[in-house]
Amino acid sequence: MVAHAKETDAIVLNCAEHGESDVIVTLFSQDAGRLTAIAKGAKKSKKRFVNKLELFSFLHITYQQKANRSLAFLAEAELHTSFLHIRQDLALYSIASVIREFLLIGVKENEPDLHIFRLSLWALHNFDQKHPPMTILALFLIRFFDYVGYRPDLQACMHCGSLVTAQNRYNFDTTIGSIVCSDCNPHSLKGLPLSLGTIKMLRSAQDQPLERLHRLKISGSILYETLSLLQNYGNQLFQRDIVSWKIVRTFMKTRK
Ligand SMILES: [Zn+2]
Repeated sequence: MVAHAKETDAIVLNCAEHGESDVIVTLFSQDAGRLTAIAKGAKKSKKRFVNKLELFSFLHITYQQKANRSLAFLAEAELHTSFLHIRQDLALYSIASVIREFLLIGVKENEPDLHIFRLSLWALHNFDQKHPPMTILALFLIRFFDYVGYRPDLQACMHCGSLVTAQNRYNFDTTIGSIVCSDCNPHSLKGLPLSLGTIKMLRSAQDQPLERLHRLKISGSILYETLSLLQNYGNQLFQRDIVSWKIVRTFMKTRK
């Protein structure tokens, strides 16, 4: 059976050498979700794929895929942008790798998601333009959890239903994905404490159009609380260790 060539935009999430001359690349594609493809001869005769099959590269690809086969054949790749700054800066690279790991876990084959695709490109562009990377990471994750169906509930206490007020204190319970007020959780035994400032920032990050998301500024204790929450919530949701967090935490004291 002849497989017809298809075209789509795609972000490179992983590359692995295969045999003597081939490369297997894992992509987040706009039209097909996660896509694994073999680039024949990419290692030896590099002409066709030179400087293209690199982590985070944004490509336009032509590929063939037989029905019932998960491995596609990569015919051609054109480079939209390589996001070179990300690959030249270790801190930036590690922070972007948290996103890469989440995409590898969260994006499924044959399940395209334009929201997550646009959000990922938004984050990579902002990293590359040297916007504060920890802020970009936080904003990405707030929206990503939303798009995969686990929007954190920050409007009202999950137990008593009372709306957030300045008079009360709140913790975020990662096991239920919601805030709990101090009346219902008097000794703060459950969840991570969230200040009112953090709750407000998170809520506006949830509702901001993507074009305006980069305008949100997050710093100091709000950024710290936000990232702790997102790291814990992510671990809870996916039951997987995101390896890159470890390196990122070492940069957290110096980068915003
Ligand atoms: Zn309550």
